[in-house]
Amino acid sequence: MGVFLAGAGINIKSAAIAVLVLFQLNAYPFVLSGSNVNISDREHQEHKYEPQMDEKQELVLKKINTIDTLLIKQNIHNTIEAAIKQAEEANKTRKEWIFKSACPAIWADRSKAELSLTFDDGVDYGSAAKALEVLKKTGVKCTFFVIGRALAQHPQLWQQAVKDGHQVCNHTQNHKNLAELSNEEITKEIKDWESSAGNVLGEEYLKTMRNEFPFFRLPYGSGSDSKRIMNVISELKYIPVGWSAETYNSVLRHYNLKAAPVEPVAARIANHITANAKNGSIILLHFNAFDTAKLQDIIEGIKAKGLSMKLVSEVLADN
Ligand SMILES: [Zn+2]
Repeated sequence: MGVFLAGAGINIKSAAIAVLVLFQLNAYPFVLSGSNVNISDREHQEHKYEPQMDEKQELVLKKINTIDTLLIKQNIHNTIEAAIKQAEEANKTRKEWIFKSACPAIWADRSKAELSLTFDDGVDYGSAAKALEVLKKTGVKCTFFVIGRALAQHPQLWQQAVKDGHQVCNHTQNHKNLAELSNEEITKEIKDWESSAGNVLGEEYLKTMRNEFPFFRLPYGSGSDSKRIMNVISELKYIPVGWSAETYNSVLRHYNLKAAPVEPVAARIANHITANAKNGSIILLHFNAFDTAKLQDIIEGIKAKGLSMKLVSEVLADN
């Protein structure tokens, strides 16, 4: 635990400033979260997928209109005034900046050759165990968004993950679509995750996570354009983390995942992720057979591009 805490020792306030400031500095089109699904969900094929935002600028513009300044509340560490000022000084439109800061995809400094690999869910024990093994072997630390009930199902696995230096963050207790829940139900999903994490990883871990890396990922990415949902998350002092590259929307949806052989799909995933790995990327993988089968190739591919992989908190704190 000591090693872990030392590694994760960031000042979240300065990290928040960095995020906000960097949003207005980078000229990249913003990638809004699409839908992501848990591969072990039988309904995975039924989910609607949004097109890649970087290909659909007009959709981005449409989304901007659905978001207002209330979302600014999600920036929870009193850095908002300073960030607005800087954004204005940089001659960015307030609207654009608000949109970027309010949505849950966080990108770090694009001038640095580093990125963050993140993994979601964790109900597929075999894939999670395999990922941990590869990460240990390659010395890569990741930020995990593990479902609360998956924590409780395999406590030792996640205790090992923390021991290995990974971050385990909030992905709700039951992975429900938050857009279909009341504010009270959303709060319960988030709080129940904390109870699971406290039981499995310890109260000390939970406290550190809440103070130093209070990251949250929306199940299915659902709710990223809802100020109601973003406000609930904000009130609970979480920082939503989206992604800039993923595998469901781009690769897996083209296959019948119940029948597809793992190897060729995994090879496509490795190519896709390696090709899309850039400075400041937040890469979303899942603990599933397809994303983890060639994890070592993914890691080697990213390293070969001269990019280093870090925890989300580290990537933010570095900027
Ligand atoms: Zn998920």
